[in-house]
Amino acid sequence: MIAYDLDFNQLTEVLKSNGIATFRAKQIWEWLYIHLVDSYDDMKNIDSKTKEFMKNNYPIEILEVVKSQSDDEGTTKVLFSLSDDEVIETVLMKQKYGYSICVTTQIGCKIGCSFCASHLGGFKRNLTPGEITGQLMHFSKQLKLKEERVSHVVVMGIGEPLDNLTNVFTFINTINDQKGLKIGARHITVSTSGIVPKIKEIANYDKQINLAISLHAPNDEIRSKIMKINDAYNIESLLDAVDDYIYETNRRVSFEYIMLKGINDQVEHAKELAKVIRGINCHVNLIPFNPVDEYTYQQSEVSTIKEFEKVLLDAKIQVSIRFSRGTKIDGACGQLRYKHNND
Ligand code: SAH
Repeated sequence: MIAYDLDFNQLTEVLKSNGIATFRAKQIWEWLYIHLVDSYDDMKNIDSKTKEFMKNNYPIEILEVVKSQSDDEGTTKVLFSLSDDEVIETVLMKQKYGYSICVTTQIGCKIGCSFCASHLGGFKRNLTPGEITGQLMHFSKQLKLKEERVSHVVVMGIGEPLDNLTNVFTFINTINDQKGLKIGARHITVSTSGIVPKIKEIANYDKQINLAISLHAPNDEIRSKIMKINDAYNIESLLDAVDDYIYETNRRVSFEYIMLKGINDQVEHAKELAKVIRGINCHVNLIPFNPVDEYTYQQSEVSTIKEFEKVLLDAKIQVSIRFSRGTKIDGACGQLRYKHNND
């Protein structure tokens, strides 16, 4: 295990069960997540016995950068290598409201959506909490030099976060902690392809994070064609879970809707979608398809996307078009990693 694997309660427990005074937890925490130090030697008010214990059992491991690509719109995509030589990717985006990052939660993905590059090359393993937190720490340390910070986190990189939920929760506990990074729960969004039983766990989680659902189609016929998870959890079961989530949390959900030319982007689809989600407290994000060489899907025309948007607006559904960021730097989920592995 490494230092970033532990949330605050776990760190406290570890110290306690090893005979170290628990007030050390807050001190170590502040060094890790406020001062962002890379070494226990820099923790000036910590005694040497505690430092030795932490060094030997929970070293501060930094993710190694393999490659970093930036564009002129303020998007940076970094490829990191892990201790088993696997690589993962993370994106930092400069937004009007601050910096947001998109983190990866798994090496590869089991879900296999037909338009997504993340599962090319198969599924390898879950990321540990420390590997997820490590992605954020890399950018936090860089931004600190400019007196900036990461203010928003989207869990939308490679992988299905709800398929690695325990580790994702530990990560969120860590970054949300008020004694450290203080990233507001309302500034954290977890996106899922729709693993219905796990949505309940998000509803019961004690932090008010945002939930995004990759809906991507207005009916089961289209959704099953483009997302095989729909055969396990169809739209009706997914929207039932969303209803329960909203009932329990009182929070609005986002529906992600990828615009694939000629597949799900016609006015009739927009009308059907409007009917299906009518009455749900939601916001729809229309995402233009980010081309992936291995697939034949094409991007919808901008005019088609605008027409689609208009149908939803007319139906009084809140909607935004998310023009892609980072297309020039292999911004689509899993693209940079896949290219790296196949060069
Ligand atoms: N597994 C989670 C989160 C990761 S993907 C999920 O499915 O929600 C984040 C979003 O990007 C999802 O909505 C996903 O469907 C979408 N996406 C994947 N590949 C894409 C591509 N090539 N172009 C545009 N969006 C894509």
